[in-house]
Amino acid sequence: HEKKLRESEKLSLVGELAAGVAHEIRNPLTTLKGFAQMMNENIDPESNKRYSKIMIDEINRINFIVSEFMVLSKPHVVQYSLTDLSQSIKNVITLLNTQAIMNNIEIVPEFNGEQFLIKCEENQIKQVIANLIKNSIEAMPQGGKIQIRMEHQNANLVISVIDSGVGISRENLPLLGTPFYTTKNEGTGLGLMVSKKIIQNHNGKFEIKSVPNIATTVTITLPTELSHLEYVKQNPGDESNLSQ
Ligand code: ADP
Ligand code: MG
Repeated sequence: HEKKLRESEKLSLVGELAAGVAHEIRNPLTTLKGFAQMMNENIDPESNKRYSKIMIDEINRINFIVSEFMVLSKPHVVQYSLTDLSQSIKNVITLLNTQAIMNNIEIVPEFNGEQFLIKCEENQIKQVIANLIKNSIEAMPQGGKIQIRMEHQNANLVISVIDSGVGISRENLPLLGTPFYTTKNEGTGLGLMVSKKIIQNHNGKFEIKSVPNIATTVTITLPTELSHLEYVKQNPGDESNLSQ
């Protein structure tokens, strides 16, 4: 039963992302068409060289977006590996940026330069971050800023997603992450449940704090030493206790 929920949530996340992805692809396509027309009317080899360079950049961008989207939508076996989460999270931001900009929202990663290596299921952590950013976007109908912080605290990696949206009242806070709890007309009420589950599977902690209209902070604490993951590594195939 639970597995079904996860599958349907995955489908809905992919469906929700699809609109943003379509926009991400349409913009470079418009650029490509423009430059193709210009090349068609132009005979100067120097400017045609410049045009073709821009076109290749745009094609690379489309390629990147499509492959990121496929990673998120593809069913996959759970496989823990050493990952630089700063790169993973930047890739998620790229995927959601158009949707954010359309809603007058700026996503600000506050961890430039540094690597944040951790042993994890990269696709799942990406799914969590995408869920959180989407929730923040949906909580800020007037626009605003989403800050994403990442820091080492003792033996943990702490990731926070902070928005200044409508927030959650004190009495509703305990309901978050229970299946099907949603305040949205088009919501599934499964995003936080799946996210919590994924973080639990990584032996991590998931915490939400909110002062409505001021700041809502979702904090994920992941141990950098994941003892049960070592267990899986030494006993490949014995993942039954983790994936549920
Ligand atoms: P859905 O987004 O489909 O409603 P989620 O499980 O992702 O389901 O979220 C459940 C509910 O938690 C949302 O409907 C919303 O009321 C609340 N919520 C989650 N994140 C935020 C946030 N950043 N700001 C305000 N409310 C939030
Ligand atoms: Mg959601």
